[in-house]
Amino acid sequence: AMAQIATVRVPNLSEIKVPTGLFINNEFVPSVDSGDLIHAVNPFTEEVICSVVAASPKDIDLAVAAARNAFQTTWGKNVTGFERSRLINKLADLIEQNAQELAELEALNNGKPIRIARDFDIGDSVQCLRYYAGWADKIAGQSLEIDNKTKFAFTKHEPIGVCGQIIPWNYPINMWSWKVAPALAVGCTIVMKPSELTPLTALKLSELVKEAGFPPGVVNTVPSFGPVGGAALAAHPDVDKVAFTGSTITGRKIMEAAAKSNLKKVSLELGGKSPHLIFESCDMDQAANWAALGICYNSGQDCTAGSRVYVQDSIHDKFVEVLVSKVKELVFGNGLDNKSAGGPVVSKNQYDRVWGYIEAGKQEGAKVVLGGTKRPGKGFFVDPTIFTDIRSNMKIVQEEIFGPVLAVGRFKTEEEAIKLANDTSYGLGAGLHSNDANQCMRVTSALDAGTVWVSRNYFHMTPKIQHQRILQINQYNSLSNNVPFGGKKQSGIGRELGSYALEEYTSVKAVHWNF
Ligand code: NAD
Repeated sequence: AMAQIATVRVPNLSEIKVPTGLFINNEFVPSVDSGDLIHAVNPFTEEVICSVVAASPKDIDLAVAAARNAFQTTWGKNVTGFERSRLINKLADLIEQNAQELAELEALNNGKPIRIARDFDIGDSVQCLRYYAGWADKIAGQSLEIDNKTKFAFTKHEPIGVCGQIIPWNYPINMWSWKVAPALAVGCTIVMKPSELTPLTALKLSELVKEAGFPPGVVNTVPSFGPVGGAALAAHPDVDKVAFTGSTITGRKIMEAAAKSNLKKVSLELGGKSPHLIFESCDMDQAANWAALGICYNSGQDCTAGSRVYVQDSIHDKFVEVLVSKVKELVFGNGLDNKSAGGPVVSKNQYDRVWGYIEAGKQEGAKVVLGGTKRPGKGFFVDPTIFTDIRSNMKIVQEEIFGPVLAVGRFKTEEEAIKLANDTSYGLGAGLHSNDANQCMRVTSALDAGTVWVSRNYFHMTPKIQHQRILQINQYNSLSNNVPFGGKKQSGIGRELGSYALEEYTSVKAVHWNF
C-alpha cells in the first residue's frame, strides 16, 4: 500500500510534508503486504493527523537485508571512522537547521510543548549526535604484553553488526538519537522501529539521513505495531543486537525472543518508580522545585519520573504545602502553545491507564491533596495529582504510572528512608535532598539506582549564582550526553550515553599474535 507524502497542518504555524512509506535502502517504499496503516493522533484534539504505512514481518525482513548489505559492503567494513564522523556531524547540522519543523511535528503528535521539543529534546539530540561523531574516529583497542620474545595480544573493537532498535513515544526524537548515534559511530547498521503512537518524526529524520549522504541501508525506518514489527525484529535470526526502551513487560518479551532466536545481544532501558528522599536539612524551596518538575516534566511520561517522594517527619506537612504550591504553577495545555508547561498524555490508552491508577489510589485510601478530577472537553489531559498518607502495598506506590501522579510518604530515620526508597522492583533514578554531605554520600551508596541526582543547599551562594544554576536546568531528570544512563534491577540491562554506549554496540576481538 501507499508510499506517499502527506501534508500535516500545524495550526497557525506551518504545513509539513511527511513521507508516509517505510524507509528502506534510502527510499520511502510501500509495504510488500496488504499494508496496515498507523494512524498518528494529536492528543490535544484527539484527531488523526496523518496515516503512515505499518511494516509487516516481510517488510522487516527487507529492512534487515538492506542493513546487512550495508554492513557488509559499506558502513560496517569499508567506511573509515573519519567519514562516519563527518556524516554524523552532517546529520546533526541538518537536524539543527530543521529544528523548528521537527519540534512542531513532535509537539503535534506527542502533545509536548514545541518550545520544550525544540530547545531541550532536539537541542540535546543534536549534541548527542555530535558527541558520538567525536567518538567515531577514536574507537581503539588495547595492546597487551604476554611474553616479550614470542607473542603479544591486541584487541579490536568491532561493530556488532545489524541492530534492531525499538523506541517509545515519550521522547521520540531523543530516543532515536540516543540509539542511532552510538550505533552509527562504531559502524553498525540499523533497523529502527519507532512507536506506533509517534512515527512521524522518525520518518522526517529519515529524510535527513538520506540528505546527509549516508549510504543506502545504513539507517532503515520501519514504523510498525509492537507485537508485529517489534516482535519480528526481536526474533529475527539475522539481527545481531536489539536495543529497546519501553516498559518492563515488553522488555521481558524482547529478551525472550532474543534468547529463543539467535541469542542476539540485548540492551534494555525499562521503567522505574524513582524515589525522592527529602531530609530535614534540605533547602525546601529547591527540593520542592525538583520534586515538582520531577513528576510533572513531560506530563510524568518519563522513565525516571520521581513518582515517590519520601519526606522526613519533622518537615512533612510544611513540605507538602510548598510542593503543592510549586506544582500548581505548572499548567498543562496545548503543546502548540508556548505557555504550556506540559501537554496532555500521549494517547487514550495512557489516559485510561493513568486515571485507573488515580481511582485505585482513592479506593485504597490515599489522600488526594491536589488534582484527582477530570477536565471536561477534548484532549487526553491528566492534571498533576498528589497523594499523601500512602502505604507501601498500594498500587500507586508499587507500579509505574507514567503520568503526573505522585505518591508522598514519610520517614523518621535515614535507615528507614533507604529502605522505603529501595522497596521496589525497579532501580532507575533517585533524587536526594540534604545539606549533610556525609549523609548524601552514605545514602547515594545505599540506593539501588542507575542515576542519583543529589541536591545540597546553596546557602553559600549569592542569589545571582543560584538563579543562574536554576536557569541551567540544574534539576532532577537532567541528563548529559557524556554521562552513562541506565537501570539496576528490573529497570534494565546495559547503559546508554557516554563512552559506555559504545560498548553496547561493539564486540571485542582478542588477537593472540605470535611472532
Ligand atoms: P511498550 O513497552 O509496549 O512500547 C515501547 C515500544 O515497544 C514501542 O515501540 C512498541 O511498539 C514496542 N513493542 C510493544 N510490544 C512489543 C513486542 N511484543 N515486541 C517488540 N516490541 C514491542 O510501552 P507502551 O505500551 O507504549 O506503554 C505502556 C507503559 O510502558 C507505559 O505506561 C509506561 O509505564 C511504560 N513505558 C516506559 C517507557 C520508558 O521510557 N521507560 C517508555 C514508554 C512506555
